[in-house]
Amino acid sequence: MRYSGYTCWRAVIANVGDEPPGATETWGAAGRVGVIPLTQQRIYWFACINAPANDEEFKRFKVKDLYEHFRHYHAPIPGILRQTKDSALLQNDIYDLKPLKKFAYGNVLLLGDAAHATTPNMGQGACQAIEDAVVLAEELKRHGSYHQAFPAFEQRRLRRTRDIVRQSRAIGQAAQLENSLLIAARDLLLRAMPAALRSKQFEKLYTVDFKGAAF
Ligand SMILES: Cc1cc2nc3c(=O)[nH]c(=O)nc-3n(C[C@H](O)[C@H](O)[C@H](O)COP(=O)(O)OP(=O)(O)OC[C@H]3O[C@@H](n4cnc5c(N)ncnc54)[C@H](O)[C@@H]3O)c2cc1C
Repeated sequence: MRYSGYTCWRAVIANVGDEPPGATETWGAAGRVGVIPLTQQRIYWFACINAPANDEEFKRFKVKDLYEHFRHYHAPIPGILRQTKDSALLQNDIYDLKPLKKFAYGNVLLLGDAAHATTPNMGQGACQAIEDAVVLAEELKRHGSYHQAFPAFEQRRLRRTRDIVRQSRAIGQAAQLENSLLIAARDLLLRAMPAALRSKQFEKLYTVDFKGAAF
């Protein structure tokens, strides 16, 4: 496992505002905050701060500490932090798995996080686990035996999951920059990136190698 260099707090809270907030992700030198409206008047938020792994001070962080840390960020971030109860806070250091060269080991097959745990920057961890399940079901149906199905699964899944792990890690590194010169260069590059290039990256993500087998 590889430590990403940042730790993450998250919570789901009731939305007490009149309007649900839009889904946003804010990158700043103090860290990154994401806000995602959910159904039933709830909000999911996360906050990532650069930190040594297993840092004792951050482990003791309460909502008020996060509020102090991010109080200069734009609305609704400080308000959302203030509304969160300590009991709703979840904190985890963020790790990923260096891409493996194999998923199939005889009659043992790795899938989901066991095969390709990724940083959460693309929101793809569980999505890739679900894709694994669909592809495995297809290959088992096609071959009828794990002898052929497991290597066929591996062949279809290695490259896609490896690319996502790498891209997600790179996004995290860009998002967690603290140096003001590097931040200015990153922001300039992102603004200059043609929309067509951005949508091409999404296209790749959403083009899934399903064979369309009904099962
Ligand atoms: C902060 C954060 C944000 C995330 N955001 C997203 C997101 O937006 N979108 C997304 O798609 N993914 C996201 N993920 C990733 C997602 O949670 C994981 O990729 C997903 O849960 C992996 O599923 P899994 O079934 O492979 O593994 P797990 O969910 O880890 O399930 C493995 C299960 O096996 C059990 N287990 C372990 N050992 C044994 C044993 N010996 N016997 C029996 N049971 C055992 C465990 O208790 C666990 O229940 C996020 C992750 C984090 C940390």
